[in-house]
Amino acid sequence: MKNIFRQFTKDDFFKNVNLHIHSTYSDGRVEFNELIKQAKELNLKYYSITDHNSIEGYKHLEKMPDGLIVGVEFDCFFDLNLPHILGYNVDINNPELNALTAEFEKGIMEVPKRILTSRHPKKVIEAIHSAGGIAVLAHPCCYWCLSLDRFIQKLVKMGLDGVEVYYPYDRITRIVKFHSRKTVKKLAEKYNLLLTGGEDQHYSLFNMEKNINWDRIL
Ligand SMILES: [Zn+2]
Ligand SMILES: [Zn+2]
Repeated sequence: MKNIFRQFTKDDFFKNVNLHIHSTYSDGRVEFNELIKQAKELNLKYYSITDHNSIEGYKHLEKMPDGLIVGVEFDCFFDLNLPHILGYNVDINNPELNALTAEFEKGIMEVPKRILTSRHPKKVIEAIHSAGGIAVLAHPCCYWCLSLDRFIQKLVKMGLDGVEVYYPYDRITRIVKFHSRKTVKKLAEKYNLLLTGGEDQHYSLFNMEKNINWDRIL
């Protein structure tokens, strides 16, 4: 799977590839199966539905559709930040991973509860790895820290495999911006991390912005 991730180019995001989508199993508005239908209609080559702290959607699937990569997004607490860590290509029957998702109450989406349940990224990365998956830091521009370099370096020491670089926003609630995607890309290269991307779509995939000029942003 890492080799597939390495092959993605900036032009793939979001024309053929979208690795960050939420369904009604967390706080997305569109049902899991409906998202699969939409991805088919849009001819996405690879996509991942990454619900918060939940792999329930995958457990209810009868058959994995072509192009769908198992994904999940965990809430973490670390260095006064609440980083989100994405896990890709995880084995949904892995006991460590299931123990971790079980710690998050089923379907809890109220933000205070989610923050209280947040886990240390080391624990999350270890669970993702024990389930054979790839651990990726989501939307790195959004974290408050003086040095994003040191923040990412600490996560790399815990085993982080990649960072999300291609995503359509760099501001929390569209206002606060701590780091640029250019910085994130440079750090990904410095630490030899995988570069991933996804929309963090909470609505229909038909809303996907297909004409992002990455050359201008990065
Ligand atoms: Zn997130
Ligand atoms: Zn998300």
